[in-house]
Amino acid sequence: MSVRVRFAPSPTGALHIGGVRTALYNYLFAKKHNGSFVLRIEDTDQTRFVEGAESYIENALSWAGITPDEGVSFGGNFGPYKQSERKGRYKEFADKLLAEGKAYYAFDTPEELDEMRERLKEARVANPQYNSVTRMQMTNSLTLSEDDVKARIEKGDPYVIRIKLPRNEDVRFKDIVRGWVVVNTATLDDKVLLKSDGMPTYHLANIVDDHQMEISHVIRGEEWLPSAPLHVILYDFLGWDRPEFAHLPLLLKPDGNGKLSKRAADKLGFPIFPLNWIDPVGSELSKGFKEEGYLPDAFINFLALLGWNPGGEKELFSMQELIEIFSLEKINKAGAKFDIEKAKWFNEQYLKGREDEELAEEFVGLMDQSVEQGKALAIVNALKERVTFVHQMVDAGRFFFEEPTVYDEKTVRKKWNQLAVDKLLGFAEKLETRENVSKDEAKEILTSYLSEDETPLGRIMPALRLSLTGQAGGPDLMAIIEILGTKEVVKRIKVAVDVLKIN
Ligand code: GLU
Repeated sequence: MSVRVRFAPSPTGALHIGGVRTALYNYLFAKKHNGSFVLRIEDTDQTRFVEGAESYIENALSWAGITPDEGVSFGGNFGPYKQSERKGRYKEFADKLLAEGKAYYAFDTPEELDEMRERLKEARVANPQYNSVTRMQMTNSLTLSEDDVKARIEKGDPYVIRIKLPRNEDVRFKDIVRGWVVVNTATLDDKVLLKSDGMPTYHLANIVDDHQMEISHVIRGEEWLPSAPLHVILYDFLGWDRPEFAHLPLLLKPDGNGKLSKRAADKLGFPIFPLNWIDPVGSELSKGFKEEGYLPDAFINFLALLGWNPGGEKELFSMQELIEIFSLEKINKAGAKFDIEKAKWFNEQYLKGREDEELAEEFVGLMDQSVEQGKALAIVNALKERVTFVHQMVDAGRFFFEEPTVYDEKTVRKKWNQLAVDKLLGFAEKLETRENVSKDEAKEILTSYLSEDETPLGRIMPALRLSLTGQAGGPDLMAIIEILGTKEVVKRIKVAVDVLKIN
């Protein structure tokens, strides 16, 4: 049997990072088994429709490099891939269940449903449900006569179709992540399958589509586990083979206390969406991982390990490597703590590995002045191991373009002394006669000058850095000299000597 999996988001807002992880695991599993990864838009709940959400989902997956084989914008033989366009396909199955006594019409008004819940609450029922017991007190085709039901339907009374669950039966299925799951139908309610507007609910549409799209494995978030027994019953009722199930662990807040929510992420100051999202209602902007400066491969690597553990020490995996080693069996049962510091670490690793040419181009794009190509290359090379995000190079590299106006106070106090000043001026004199120097030449000139009277390099390096950058730390000093050029270096040394008091 060929592997066919799907990612089935509802376009109700921006795609949460947990959704991207679900898509990623589906994608990895499909690619590993030469199968197909389907993107299906589950938009049956029109009241929750959010403008722009569908294209956001596609853009986010595209940025992350998770490319569907089939979907609204990708084609495929199992379309349409949007549930609202499949509207006509579901009723037939609700009707089949009705005809076989596995579903029933229910005419209860919202007020009657409320009343029922109130009544049950008063009777101290913890979890009031429309179920095998309570359904016998409600207005439905199980309690009304056949003629009455017919008359109501002909009259146009609104109705829904509910599943008729067996009263007391164990439903079992094996989840690849969680093992055997057993749930008694007494704890479930008779969920609505077809709504009064003729639209299917998520449950009916989901299993009809999974069946018709020949989905072999349903890989989705743990929040759908409570729905799985109902889905299993529906497969059995309709006489269809069940797919395999794998329910993925929740993403937890960094302290492990509860689900990672947008609220929690906002509070802790990190993104939760892959791309920027502007809420269509309040126009509030939520920053995305992309816009924060995360690289897609770092983001994917980080996400892949949130809830899945290939074993061993290795942490850096390309998409191709992930595909090769991915397996559903190695997904953890326990929730995965979200650690943004780890995401940053991955970004640093991938940033270091990027080509200078590419980085230079991005860097130049971020600068508000023109930067000569050779200089940009040298700057990104000097800085790429020192920042988490490319955009941080703008600030970290400001001193390459502007001479310091402030000097690190502690370094002045501790390292700026007569010896340093003398040596810096002596070094400046040596440089003055030279055209620009490479970092090796700069080093050579400095060390041979200092060796004349055996001044240790360490005695003047902090002062030299201070005079050139104003800072106590930073990239390789010799690279800075090469990039600034001898004229600028000499000038900066002289300015520092002029403005700083000797300690
Ligand atoms: N439409 C559901 C969602 O928004 C899909 C759940 C599933 O994968 O079955 O996540």
